[in-house]
Amino acid sequence: MRLNQIYTNKQIDIPYLLKIGEGKIPKIGKYLIDKEIKNIALFFGEGIENIVGESLYRGLKTQGVAVKYNKTVTNIDIDAITHTAFSLSPEINAVVGVGGGKALDFAKYAAYLLKIPYISVPTAVSNDGFCSPSSSLTVEGKRKSVKSGIPFGVVIDLDVIKSNPAVFLYSGIGDMVSKITALSDWKTAFKKGSERFNDFASLMAYNSLDILFLKHTFDIRSPEFQRSLANSLLISGLSMEIAGTSRPASGSEHLISHALDAVSRNPKMHGIQVGAATYLCALLQNNANFADVRSVLTNTGFLDFVRQAPFDKKEFLEALKKAPEIKKNYYTVLSEPDAFARAVRLLDTDEILRQIIV
Ligand SMILES: [Zn+2]
Repeated sequence: MRLNQIYTNKQIDIPYLLKIGEGKIPKIGKYLIDKEIKNIALFFGEGIENIVGESLYRGLKTQGVAVKYNKTVTNIDIDAITHTAFSLSPEINAVVGVGGGKALDFAKYAAYLLKIPYISVPTAVSNDGFCSPSSSLTVEGKRKSVKSGIPFGVVIDLDVIKSNPAVFLYSGIGDMVSKITALSDWKTAFKKGSERFNDFASLMAYNSLDILFLKHTFDIRSPEFQRSLANSLLISGLSMEIAGTSRPASGSEHLISHALDAVSRNPKMHGIQVGAATYLCALLQNNANFADVRSVLTNTGFLDFVRQAPFDKKEFLEALKKAPEIKKNYYTVLSEPDAFARAVRLLDTDEILRQIIV
C-alpha cells in the first residue's frame, strides 16, 4: 500500500438531521419539510405502524409530506430489497425506516441503492445499527453485514423508547459495553501489524462509553439513562463510519455472538449475547477496564437479567470454538493459541460466568 493511500483523509458522512427527545415522531413531517423532503417511502417494522403510525401520519399530513409508498418489513433478503427499491416511484426523494432492526436495515439499504436520503427512526435502542454504515441482510440465505450509508437523519422519540421491554434496553447496554473489548482487540491487531488504526474513531468510541457510564444513574427506566444510551449507540455507529471499518464497535465479543447465532437453538438478542461475551473477552484480554465492564453489567441489572434465562454452556462452548473462524484474517484475543483453553477454565471457575452460562 502506498503511503498517500494510508494517510489521505477520506470523506465521511454524518447525519444532518439529528433529534433525540420526547415527542419527536409527530414532528417528523416538520423535520422533513425543513430539509425540502416532500415525497417519501415509509418502511415499518412488524406491529410498529399500530403503535406510532397515527401520530406520524398526522404530522406528515399537516406539513404536506406525501407517503408515496408504505410497507411493513418482514423479509430482509437483499434481492427482495433491491427489487422493491428499484420499483419505487422516481418522485420519492427520501426513505424513512421506523422500527427495530429489520425495517431500518431494509430502508437503509434501499436508500443506499437509490442514492437518496435515509431517515432512521428507531423505536428501540437495542443495538448500534440504527446509525451505522452497514445493514444486516439475508444474502443467499445467510445473515450478512452489507455496506450501506450513514443515515441522513436520525430521529429517536424517547416517549417510544420508554415503553421498550427490559430485554431491548439490556441488549443496548450489552452492545455498548462491547466497545471496551472491541477497542482492545483493534489496538492489539494494529500492534501486530494486521490492521490500521484510527485515533479519532477510537476516541469517539471511548467517549461514547463515557456518555453512558460516567454520567449518572444506572436505572434503565430513567429518561436520562435512556437518552444517554441512545446517544452512546449513535456515536458508536458513527465511529465505524469514521474508522472505515466496524473495528471500533465489533471485536472478539461480536464474533462469539455471530457464532451463537449460528449454533444456538434459540439465539438471544444481539446485545444480550454480545454483553455476556464482553465479560468473558475482557477477562481473556486482561483488559484494564474489566472492573468497569463488571460494574456496568452488575449495576444496570444486566447480569441479573441474564441469570433468569442463562446461556446453554454446550452451545456457548461450540460458539467459542467457531468464533475465531467467522472472519478470516481478523485478529482478536480469540486468535491467541491458548484462548479457547483459558475460556473453558474461566467458564468453570468465574463466579459470574458460572451463573450466566450453565
Ligand atoms: Zn453490535
